[in-house]
Amino acid sequence: MRKSDDFSEWYNEVVEQNELTDKRYPIKGMNVWPYYGWKTWLLIGSIVRREFDLRGHQEVYFPLLIPEDQFQKEKEHIKGFDAQVFWVTRAGDNELDIPLLLRPTSETAMYPIFSVWIRSHADLPLRIYQIVNTFRYETKQTRAFIRVREIQFIEGHTCHASYEEAESQIREDLEIMKNIAEELCLPYKVIRRTEWDKFPGALYTYGVDTMLPDGRALQIASIHQYRTNFSIPYNIYFEEEDGSRKPVHQTTYGMSERMLGAVVAIHGDDTGLIIPPSVSPVQVLVVPVPVKGEAERITGEARKIYDAVSSLGFRTRFDDRDIRPGNKYYYWERRGVPLRLEIGKREIDEGFVTAVRRDSRAKIRIDITDLQKGIGDILHDIASSLLRRAEESASRMEFDADRPEGIREGYNRMSWCGREECGKNIEERSGGSLLGTPVGESGKKGKCVICGEETDGIAIVARTM
Ligand code: ZN
Repeated sequence: MRKSDDFSEWYNEVVEQNELTDKRYPIKGMNVWPYYGWKTWLLIGSIVRREFDLRGHQEVYFPLLIPEDQFQKEKEHIKGFDAQVFWVTRAGDNELDIPLLLRPTSETAMYPIFSVWIRSHADLPLRIYQIVNTFRYETKQTRAFIRVREIQFIEGHTCHASYEEAESQIREDLEIMKNIAEELCLPYKVIRRTEWDKFPGALYTYGVDTMLPDGRALQIASIHQYRTNFSIPYNIYFEEEDGSRKPVHQTTYGMSERMLGAVVAIHGDDTGLIIPPSVSPVQVLVVPVPVKGEAERITGEARKIYDAVSSLGFRTRFDDRDIRPGNKYYYWERRGVPLRLEIGKREIDEGFVTAVRRDSRAKIRIDITDLQKGIGDILHDIASSLLRRAEESASRMEFDADRPEGIREGYNRMSWCGREECGKNIEERSGGSLLGTPVGESGKKGKCVICGEETDGIAIVARTM
């Protein structure tokens, strides 16, 4: 299946054929993670951990089940999630007095505990995160990593003494996003969601969107300013130095396995996956290329090179299966391994390895005494060209539109006065979603495409995944 012929079919094929996911589990939207996919997700998680830990956020774990009465405290939040909740109502022979729900997200699991943890200004800021599964009953067509019912989720939660401190946390979140996206070689846009599309209960929401090759936007992360919308109903107050009691200001940061979906969708090609070096379970593949009569010597020497590369800290695999080298190349190319080292008679006799890049298929000679720098430089270059390629194709999918009808595949930028009535009209007439207004981009003066009012407000409209 060619990616350009049918992106959607191509996506379903590459994720299943290359052991990222196994959809044969008998619950729709709850897939098995085979080793290769799970390891890739864990590596994405380790980048997120590094970014959070570096800034003093602490990793925690809260229970999966939330009592119904605890969930019910913030009205907007309940309205937003009610239709998506999985319930546990029985245990053994007993009907439960208070039904329990599987976390769709963990605000309502955490906040009653925050109200106990936080006493005074000395307990602030509180900055924690967890990497867990969450559950949402999706009714739309499911798709691996992109729309599932059991979601691998990363959620950061913070509490602050003031609105300004919470705002500065959100600026830091954007910095974290920048670093993570760079490691995943993903271009993205930060878009302030509309009032009718923000996170249930939030003051405002920033969506982080990336553009898929079929011209549809995919939200890969979101950042929320709650102000005191949750701390008041959940009674999360702190005592100021002057003895007064105040509700904390809160933010959250959510990311999910959709980041892996975006990596697959954006970097892959007709052959299969291309995984960025930073999250590839195998960064370097070593393949012996034996010749008649010297098979044993060549495989032995190749194994020594594998040991050397592995001990340099690269995630390395030695493929000495009894199949033709060409079949091995194809097998690992489909799985997106960024770099392959071919080691045959000539390489051994002359003391070099032949490195083949997955992204460009270019062959590069690396001297055996220069493996660390040689491999490191190429992996680095692969990452930058993946990012460059992805940025170029995303920028080809950005358009200015002067009316809502006939939007193109990609981001469509149009003047919008900001009123809900006009926004809903834009969605209706375009058939796309109004993602919101871009953050950090100033708009040109124009006329709202619906009401004609002079405005410098901008709407980004796109079809979504
Ligand atoms: Zn308008």
